[in-house]
Amino acid sequence: MASTLFRRLGIATLDAAGTVHTQANLLVEGNRIAYIGQEERPADRVVDGDGCLAIPGLINTHHHLYQTLTRVMPEVQSAELFPWLVAQYPVWARMGGEAVKVSSQISLAEMLLSGCTTASDMFYVFPRGSDVSLEHVIEAAAELGIRLHAGRGSMSLGQCAGGLPPDSVVQTQEEILADTELMIDRHHQAEPGGMVRIDVMPCSPFSVTRELMEASRDLARRRGVLLHTHLAETLDEERFCIERFGMRPLAYLEAMGWLGEDVYVAHGIHFNDEELDLLARTKTGVAHCPSSNMRLGSGICRVVEMRQRGVRVGLAVDGSASNDGNNLLLEARQALLLARLRTGASSMTPLDALRLATNGSADVLHRPELGSLEVGKVADIAIFDLNRIEYAGAVEQDPVGALLLCHPTPPRYVMINGEIRVEHGAIKGLDLERLLKRHNELVRALRGQPERV
Ligand SMILES: [Zn+2]
Repeated sequence: MASTLFRRLGIATLDAAGTVHTQANLLVEGNRIAYIGQEERPADRVVDGDGCLAIPGLINTHHHLYQTLTRVMPEVQSAELFPWLVAQYPVWARMGGEAVKVSSQISLAEMLLSGCTTASDMFYVFPRGSDVSLEHVIEAAAELGIRLHAGRGSMSLGQCAGGLPPDSVVQTQEEILADTELMIDRHHQAEPGGMVRIDVMPCSPFSVTRELMEASRDLARRRGVLLHTHLAETLDEERFCIERFGMRPLAYLEAMGWLGEDVYVAHGIHFNDEELDLLARTKTGVAHCPSSNMRLGSGICRVVEMRQRGVRVGLAVDGSASNDGNNLLLEARQALLLARLRTGASSMTPLDALRLATNGSADVLHRPELGSLEVGKVADIAIFDLNRIEYAGAVEQDPVGALLLCHPTPPRYVMINGEIRVEHGAIKGLDLERLLKRHNELVRALRGQPERV
């Protein structure tokens, strides 16, 4: 069994007590953490961590990896959710499998370079007549060695049936369910440490029929996989639900038996007190996406009140067309600042913000083997060099505070499942220049621009 010793570094364990070690050693054997402490232990490889801080690999609970293809699209730079979606659907409808794979690799690589080791992705655009498959996303993650919750997303409520997306990107319920089942059969790894899990992810109340929501629920529960959808993101959505279903978004989910420990919803902004209590009671999780919520002017998620009630909350960057960045460490800082804007400076500490992106996200994705650095846990680790100018002074005060309050920097090392994937700030085995070139060519083709503007 291969072993790696990270030597003489700070370790923010994110264990229940919030233990932070200074000048400690961390031994990884196989894909597990075998030792943390002051002893020198023999290992196949020794990595000197002087001046560095190790944290648990960050966990992203909601994304649309393909959306780097429409990142910063001028027409919707200042639009709210519904017009933002409507303008992009026709562009996404022209995607092929290569565009999905390459853009997914871009988003995942960028996240890896922020210390992210596990990502949940909702992929829901399957243009009619295209070769697009969820397997393009799964292949992208496998090549980078990042852990993936591959969400088999879906849209079945097209414009002609009163939904938001054009009919060219919606599928029939039969197609969706058959493909979801196939993806679970082929790729779902239920065991602790599994590198790919399939979650069932009908997109939203305004793009999926009630029948598909219910059939997705049944399929997920029959196969023992997680359920995820967008919910309570905007007031437009709330109005849509009241007009179409005669109830608020969360009541709609409740009426369908779509709340519970196996469910997590993205955004979760427009909840009243009773709805927060219902989330807590049913143990339904929330993926908090602060930058996207600010970018689209959607509102402020009540994260502090959720945590006070015991609601499971994790952190997410959301798609790159509504965040324009894939930096999960930056997102933790955004969560900290946004929470303070709503509930005051003492309502969220830097450690609380880091917990959202680690323990909190692990809890939302049902990954008890991830989210903290403790003996026996899976070795997903991000290591940051605090000798950089961004942390000058701060590193002498408090390393965890430095990481969250100062401007984020890329990690020096990232380990996933016991393998070093980022070394001295670069992703091992990835020709990033070539990937970027191809990605931007695909964007030009998708936008019908033969030459770079
Ligand atoms: Zn989303």
